[in-house]
Amino acid sequence: MDATTDGATATLPSRITPELIARLTDYVATGNGTVDLVEVYTGAVYGTLPQSGTDQVAAAVATARTAQKKWAATPLSERLAVFQRFHDLILENHEIISDLIQIGTGKTRRMAFEESCDTPMVISHYLKTAKRVLAPIKRAGGIPFVNASIEMHKPKGVVAVISPWNFPFAISLSDSAPAFIAGNGVVLKPDNKTALCVLFAVDLLIKAGLPRDLVQVVCGTGPDIGPTLIDNVDYVMFTGSSATGRIIGSQAGANVISCSLELGGKNPMLILDDADLDVTVPGAVFAVYGNSGQACMHIERIYVHESKYDEFLRRFTEAAEELGKKAGAAYDFEPEFGSLVSVDHMERVSAHIEDAKAKGATVVTGGYPRPDLGPAFYQPTVLTGVTPDMVHAKAETFGPVVSIYKFRDVEEAIRLANDTDYGLNASVWGKNIARATEIGARLEAGNVNINDGFITSYSSKATPSGGVKQSGIGTRHGDAGLLKYTDTVHIGVQKIQVMAARAKQPYAQQLKSTLMTLKFMRRFGIR
Ligand code: NAD
Repeated sequence: MDATTDGATATLPSRITPELIARLTDYVATGNGTVDLVEVYTGAVYGTLPQSGTDQVAAAVATARTAQKKWAATPLSERLAVFQRFHDLILENHEIISDLIQIGTGKTRRMAFEESCDTPMVISHYLKTAKRVLAPIKRAGGIPFVNASIEMHKPKGVVAVISPWNFPFAISLSDSAPAFIAGNGVVLKPDNKTALCVLFAVDLLIKAGLPRDLVQVVCGTGPDIGPTLIDNVDYVMFTGSSATGRIIGSQAGANVISCSLELGGKNPMLILDDADLDVTVPGAVFAVYGNSGQACMHIERIYVHESKYDEFLRRFTEAAEELGKKAGAAYDFEPEFGSLVSVDHMERVSAHIEDAKAKGATVVTGGYPRPDLGPAFYQPTVLTGVTPDMVHAKAETFGPVVSIYKFRDVEEAIRLANDTDYGLNASVWGKNIARATEIGARLEAGNVNINDGFITSYSSKATPSGGVKQSGIGTRHGDAGLLKYTDTVHIGVQKIQVMAARAKQPYAQQLKSTLMTLKFMRRFGIR
């Protein structure tokens, strides 16, 4: 398909036809005009995306709410069957999903394909565990045999899933799948730039048998439609920047609804004196430049033991330069390094680097855009001599740039790594795994990866993952990632009426028997 705007011609894969785009954009609750859809690689406009007004947002939640009542009453086995089919449909359609992810993000084919695999991995985990996790739990009550206690998990109702552009398919779908499985309706609010791949997933969900009204999509700028969305739903699953997370968290708090906030990071990597640089250098290159540095868990600061510093800096810089030579804009696996998401974002990344340069940092390599490849490409960049007064030292840059520092001893490395408001991810490299793990456990981060950048913890779907400090509240994955979409209801059952004082029995007598009962139960370990 070709479309020309301002001289740029879109180069979309032949699978992405105007008919497909029209069918997908039909899923958006429409009423507030349109915005252009832009192919990142060329900057060309290839279509338009409808925008939702606040009335449509409220109506979308109401529609999902009506459908949710029936869905919550649908047996869990039937709900899971829909997600077994959805899992298979994603794998069957990986090519078109990768196309759509690449068109909207400009990332490499490899990153797009791997992103498409995240949702089946999450679904597969909950297909195995949801029955156990959601089952009511019966326990003895305060006095065994006398009363009983049942813990039940009821769906929240309608969940808003607000997602960013960097992993648009994975985040929107991997976070909504457990919400649906738990019995909720979902209103998706993707970023405008990357909505198309999410709309394709909605198409697959409906093909898999999800009731049409249960899934709704609203599009628009966050501050325009976000407040109405949050005012109408029962739970907010938000992924994005810490600045937006604060706004969302305040509104959810004011409405007394709970939320999960998966936010930004300024993630450190520690390279210990016993690290094997043959594996550490390629691992660090992927941790820094994978997804062109636009992954929330990617590494922006590397602390290297002084005994390894010079060699690491030399080898890492050479590897970054090699990666820059393999950059490219193509819907195949040839390029190993992709574009940034937009020219606006590239300018923000560039501003951090220019600020560091102006304040005396050394640009060891990179530090410039690559208009020869596309409008938003930026060369892999390495900085040294970064000081706390520089924006890049503390703020999340979210681009292909890292600052490298030297440390003398482990205590100093831990102090420097923890000197941040963020706490999303950290990485430690060393041959002595027990020692590296011990050091990792002292880092203030919700995820710590030993001898890896971030994939190991993120791909372990059985263990909850989230941020600490300013990187968020709540977790995804594991039992907690399903239970958060439910309200816990406690049903207490009184089998024999012994709890209250009997009529005409003096309370002093009741007190005596209560004390005896408590002592008896403690003595025999009953309670
Ligand atoms: P962002 O906060 O600007 O936007 C995220 C989403 O929120 C978008 O859909 C946006 O339209 C919407 N939004 C903005 N203001 C809103 C409001 N007032 N009400 C409701 N919705 C609103 O973030 P971004 O630039 O799209 O994404 C990059 C950020 O996301 C980075 O900070 C990155 O670290 C973070 N991120 C975190 C994780 C994680 O799991 N912790 C994963 C991916 C990205």
